[in-house]
Amino acid sequence: MVSTASKLQFTLLWLLAAMVAAVAIGALCVPVQEYFAPLWLFPCLQGLALGAALTAALRTFHMGNRRVAVIGAVAAVAVMFYAQFFLSYRVYADQIERKTPREAALLDASPLRKPSSLMEYLSLQTRRGRPLVGGFVVHDGWVWATWALDAALAAIAAVAVVWIAFGRPFCDRCGRWYRAVGEGRLSPAGAAEVRRLAGSQNEQSATAVEYQLWTCPTADHESVLDLSSISHDRPGKSHANQAERMRFESQTLTQVREILRKNSIPRS
Ligand SMILES: [Zn+2]
Repeated sequence: MVSTASKLQFTLLWLLAAMVAAVAIGALCVPVQEYFAPLWLFPCLQGLALGAALTAALRTFHMGNRRVAVIGAVAAVAVMFYAQFFLSYRVYADQIERKTPREAALLDASPLRKPSSLMEYLSLQTRRGRPLVGGFVVHDGWVWATWALDAALAAIAAVAVVWIAFGRPFCDRCGRWYRAVGEGRLSPAGAAEVRRLAGSQNEQSATAVEYQLWTCPTADHESVLDLSSISHDRPGKSHANQAERMRFESQTLTQVREILRKNSIPRS
């Protein structure tokens, strides 16, 4: 059984990694957005990149608490935007500092003088306005609203990626993520057989299912089998949905593997 102390330690390590990734991605976005920053799409991409980094950290530090992961992802998005805005401010301030005294004197009298703080820089940006589609420029409070929308889009993208990462089972006994050890398509008879073995009450229709087998890195811990039905939305296209999860004791694993081996059918 994994101790509370080591769980806490892994959680803190994950949070630390999440914040480092957030600062790094935020900083990287400053030069990138000079060349490539499609409206609304860019924050989504930022969120996806952050979500991928957070998922890698979840696996590395064996952090399996979904609630902490979601809250951490939202916090990481806030840190990412702060880092991005702060670095943009520093770059802008440095550019002005490099101007000749004459240019600087002219600037001093204009509204473009060097901002002395991040807030001053941001309010300068809102006064200048933010161009949206078709030459339409928003100003002042509307700029803040578009920034808030950017942050919301990034947060949705990051949380979605982290949420999907929790599709992989996590073992609470040893505090480790499961490993995928097999996947394929199972005949209706095979599906019925594993359901019987698991003592599942689910008497689903006699159709083929997609399966994914997971085992805990600790050999004598439970295995997990996910079954999902195959829906044919369009001819020739199928996707798996409606997951059904069953757990097996380690002694039963050989039996489960045998059923899967005998009843696997090719994906058409
Ligand atoms: Zn385990």
